[in-house]
Amino acid sequence: MARFLWPRACVTTVPRPRRTSLAETSFSTPFPDGEQRNGLRVRLTRFQWTLGGTVVASLLIVAFSQGALRWLLLSVLFSLAGLYVGLGACFPYLQVFGQSLCEIRTRRKVVALTFDDGPEPLNTPRLLDLLAARGVRATFFCVGKRVARHPELARRIVAEGHLVENHSYLHSSWMNLFSVERLRADLTQAQEAIARVTGKSPIFFRPPSFLTNPRVFRVVRELNLTVAAARRLGLDRQPNSADRIAARVLRGVCPGWIILLHDGGVPADRLLAVVTTIIDKLQADGYECLRLDELVSCEEK
Ligand SMILES: [Zn+2]
Repeated sequence: MARFLWPRACVTTVPRPRRTSLAETSFSTPFPDGEQRNGLRVRLTRFQWTLGGTVVASLLIVAFSQGALRWLLLSVLFSLAGLYVGLGACFPYLQVFGQSLCEIRTRRKVVALTFDDGPEPLNTPRLLDLLAARGVRATFFCVGKRVARHPELARRIVAEGHLVENHSYLHSSWMNLFSVERLRADLTQAQEAIARVTGKSPIFFRPPSFLTNPRVFRVVRELNLTVAAARRLGLDRQPNSADRIAARVLRGVCPGWIILLHDGGVPADRLLAVVTTIIDKLQADGYECLRLDELVSCEEK
C-alpha cells in the first residue's frame, strides 16, 4: 500500500494497474478486476479483515476474561476498530474499504495535476489558457451538474487534451450516507452527463471530500471505475496565500505523485498564481505534468 502517512517517502507499493500503455489506460480502469471480482484471487479489504478480527478478538476476550477486565478489553477493542474504520472513511489512501489510486511507483519525473469541482466559467477557461501556454496536460474531476450547466467548458477541456473525470453529479456533503441505490444513481448520472457532452466516459472517480465507505467502493466497482485520491492536497480552498499553497504542494514532491487542486470554488487570481508557481517549479526541476491515465501508464514493476 502507498505510504501516505510518511510525507517524504518516495518509494511506494500502490496496487499496480494492469494496463501498461496509454491507449489502454485511456479506456479502462487501472484496477479492472477489483479486489473482489477476480475468481480464486479474491482478497478481503482491510475493512473486512478489521470486522473479522474484531469479532474473533471479542470472542476470545469473552472466553478468557471476566468482570471489569472483560469490559475494559472490549471497550478498547471496539474503540480502536471504530477509530480505524472512521479514519478509513476520511482518508482513502489508508485503503481501508478498497483500492484507491494515490500515486504510482516510477523513477520518471512525472506527476499528475488534478483539479476538482469545476468546470467554472470564471476559473476554468483561464486555467486552460495557462495549461496550454505551459504545455501541461491535467485531469479535471468535474461535478456532473456543472458539466450539464457548462457543456462548452467540458468540451474545451477534452478538446485541449485533458481528462474529464467523475466527481459525482451533485457533490453532496451527505454522499457518504447515501444508500447503494442513490450512490449508483448519482455516479451514473455524472457518467452519462460527462459522456454525453465530451463523448468519453470517465474511468476515474474521486469521492467528494474524499469520504468513502464499502457502498462507495461497491458502486465504483459496478461502474468499472477506479477511486482516484491524491498524494498531496493543495488545501487551496482555505484562505492561504498562493505562495504558501504552492510551497505546501511542492514540499518533498516525488515522481508519481497525484496532486489535488481545485478549479471550482477558489478565487481565479489565486488559482492562476498557485498553478503558475507549481508548474514553473516542477518544470524547472525536470518534472513533466501528465494526465492521470498517462501517469498510470508510467507505473514501473
Ligand atoms: Zn469536490
